Amino acid sequence: MEHLWAPWRIEYILSKKPEGCIFCTKPGEKRDEENLILYRGVHHFIIMNAYPYNNGHMMVVPFRHTSKLSGWADGEREEMMELADLAVELLRHTMHPDGFNLGINMGIVGGAGIADHIHMHIVPRWNGDTNFMPVISDTRVISEHLRATYANLKRGLEEILKSS
Ligand SMILES: [Zn+2]
Repeated sequence: MEHLWAPWRIEYILSKKPEGCIFCTKPGEKRDEENLILYRGVHHFIIMNAYPYNNGHMMVVPFRHTSKLSGWADGEREEMMELADLAVELLRHTMHPDGFNLGINMGIVGGAGIADHIHMHIVPRWNGDTNFMPVISDTRVISEHLRATYANLKRGLEEILKSS
């Protein structure tokens, strides 16, 4: 992922981080559209990354606050992969990427922005996308873009869930 040029992320890197854990507070707020939460499962939710590496970048996050993959209850691991699959299918259906990066960054050194609460990244990739994103590097444009993408993905999700 490091070869994706995402200059707007500097705002995130330099910004004052909110108190507490956003992966715990956001699902608790019940403002899913505002918080860019796309889907709620039993153990995990799917949320769009507000500082994406690429358009459509989302994450599968457990509701439970944990930094580890060990000690998970029955069904928790399975559902993480099920929701990763749902996210991939949703992106395929809605945004037609050419490929994907999926992964978990563990620890600050591993590149995790929020190291205390584990999460899996799903980043769609398009041929030539490393050259495309600087065109929309303006943060205001990114924010408008995120809202439009959220609405688009939410519609796509309804279509997928209806047909499955
Ligand atoms: Zn948390």
